[in-house]
Amino acid sequence: MNIQYRPSFATEELVFHGNESNAEGKALYFPVHQRKILIDSESHPDDYFSYYPEGQIIDSTEVIYIGTLDDMPCYCFELKERYDEGDMQYFGLHDLYGVIDEEMLGIASRAVQMADFYRTHRYCGLCGRTTHYVPEETGMQCNNCEHIVYPRISPAVIILIEREDHLLMARSKHFPEGIYGLVAGFVEAGETIEHAAHREIKEEVGVSVKDLNYFASQPWPFPSSLMIGFTANFAEGEIYVDVNEIEDADWFHVDDIPKLPEKKSISRALIDHFIDKHAGHE
Ligand SMILES: [Zn+2]
Repeated sequence: MNIQYRPSFATEELVFHGNESNAEGKALYFPVHQRKILIDSESHPDDYFSYYPEGQIIDSTEVIYIGTLDDMPCYCFELKERYDEGDMQYFGLHDLYGVIDEEMLGIASRAVQMADFYRTHRYCGLCGRTTHYVPEETGMQCNNCEHIVYPRISPAVIILIEREDHLLMARSKHFPEGIYGLVAGFVEAGETIEHAAHREIKEEVGVSVKDLNYFASQPWPFPSSLMIGFTANFAEGEIYVDVNEIEDADWFHVDDIPKLPEKKSISRALIDHFIDKHAGHE
């Protein structure tokens, strides 16, 4: 594990089941509408989540406790109607990256996912009746049959494939011009993350790898992935791309890596790790 890596969109300090009381009655509020947070854009970023947006919250809104930061309990809620007035504006998580500090971004990431979980699980998948939020379970429970569901988190693997001073990168058809990324894909039902890594590599670029090692993980709230990063060494095979998913794949020398992904993704942390390892080893 790479202990120097501090993933974006992850909280490290929030106590999930902490103390909900604050001596001065203060709290942090994350009012969400369809994955965007309502913020007073004129306020200082340090105060973005300090105000309870009174008047925009209708009585039936369920306020969900998502944890305590220092002494401050944090709450999110899904706004039923899109409110847009004066300086109040909606910010997506990508908009907040680099504007608020990493810990606050991690809590905002949790808030958006919890509000979205609430929004998309208002009815029971078994009997179709209404549900309510159960704080002790962090889940949504049916008011009729008591069936309970939990926030969906989709694990995905991402692998840095090394061959001495080259690394294997691929570009998806959906990527902007000139952009290459690392091999990645969702973990399927019934497989381990290691199996998923080997399978995705084989499916997407046709080669085999060895020395698969865990690197780090990162929540990726777009909408609710957990990226699990690995490094691996090339073992054998020729690159053969699955044209349904991948447009091109190739080995890139450490000095000739295409446009790097943004710092906020684990993909960049993996590539930086590779570049650092080869720095000064000409
Ligand atoms: Zn039910």
